[in-house]
Amino acid sequence: MTASDATAGRIWIKSPLAILAEDAAGGVVVEGARIVECLASGRSPSAPVDETFDASRHVVIPGLINTHHHFFQTLTRAHPIAINKPLFPWLKALSTIWPRLTPEAFRLATRVAYTELLVSGCTTAGDHHYLFPKGLESSVDIQVEEARSLGIRAFVTRGSMSLSEKDGGLPPETLVQDDDTILSDSERVLSLFHDPKPGAMVQIGLAPCSPFNVTKRLMRESAALAERFDCRLHTHLGETLDENAFCLEMFGQRPVDYLEEVGWMSSRTWLAHGIHFDDDEVRRLGKAGVGVCHCPTSNMVLASGRCRTCELEAAGSPIGLGVDGSASNDNSNLIEAVRHALMIARLTYRAEDVTHLDALRWATEGSARCLGRSDIGRIETGREADLALFSLDELRFSGAHDPLAALVLCGAYKADRVMVAGTWRVIDGEPLGIDTGRLREDHSRLARSLFGGD
Ligand SMILES: [Zn+2]
Repeated sequence: MTASDATAGRIWIKSPLAILAEDAAGGVVVEGARIVECLASGRSPSAPVDETFDASRHVVIPGLINTHHHFFQTLTRAHPIAINKPLFPWLKALSTIWPRLTPEAFRLATRVAYTELLVSGCTTAGDHHYLFPKGLESSVDIQVEEARSLGIRAFVTRGSMSLSEKDGGLPPETLVQDDDTILSDSERVLSLFHDPKPGAMVQIGLAPCSPFNVTKRLMRESAALAERFDCRLHTHLGETLDENAFCLEMFGQRPVDYLEEVGWMSSRTWLAHGIHFDDDEVRRLGKAGVGVCHCPTSNMVLASGRCRTCELEAAGSPIGLGVDGSASNDNSNLIEAVRHALMIARLTYRAEDVTHLDALRWATEGSARCLGRSDIGRIETGREADLALFSLDELRFSGAHDPLAALVLCGAYKADRVMVAGTWRVIDGEPLGIDTGRLREDHSRLARSLFGGD
């Protein structure tokens, strides 16, 4: 079966083993790209369907939504120059080899990350791409093309770095662009690809990389551009204590004060990580409605710290989940990140205060809110038909009782079926239209030839 065969006219996903939705034990009816009916137990669709899919061995959840990644880093996973280091030394080490990235390698890295995300149950894949070395000026174009070819919903943020080592920033000269080049390309990709309407398959956001590698002017002008194009703003903030110290030294202020000064304290903004905030900063971020993408796996790998998810959420900040770049995870498995989010939360909060349902909610509805979308993230009538179906047939689930809890606690890592906008994109655990063996061979060959031997 190919991706184009996989669409049925009107399909009933019938009687799931469990479903993360209210009053939908009888399943859901999908027509075109949307969910048109949620059925209570024992109910049948109100009109005839073209196809019935027996979901009696599946746990059905809203398609997961990834709100932070760096796809190109799949080429430098588990790299000896970077492993076992905290953020700044990790970043400095990898920045010496990342300028070798080529368009061909970037295309394959993008394909690998989308595919990994998709088979882990992710239906909307966000990426934060900030690397535009010479020859890679069309990185965003490549990411959009690859998403369209795979059929996954994409949220591509046009990242940027404009402050190099010589100006007091962290990245080498070869990896930065000047502010004007960045702003004109931001405008170009917004005009070409950004679809602000409900049901959009591609959206673009603006994402200066972080306070330690862009100018304040770029932050301010990106915010103005985002207003004009009605798009989201994204950046790294509060990831490490080193970052707080850098901000104090470079700008004489803490990261949240910096954010406020450059006009980013708004519900248009969502931040990656958001760990090192004090009580007052949490309150201010929540009041402004600034979202936070929690990246539990990366935070543990880089020993960055623990996001104050519950305090931020209580203050008013949407909390989403992200896998983060594949040099600090080092995979792109979002259902695994759900498990990690639950577990790291248990080191801070009481067991009853953060459950598997909270972690799943962050990865779905919370992530959708970070992206400013109300058309995805929940299974309900009128929303997009983005669904992830997991079977519990593997040994790891044997003996499990509550199916939704089992998904998180027993460590699901691969969806059996994934539907994006009403079309099956994964069947029997396999992404349609992708030869994963060939992809792995080509991608790993390029990873070795470009980034090996250091
Ligand atoms: Zn990141």
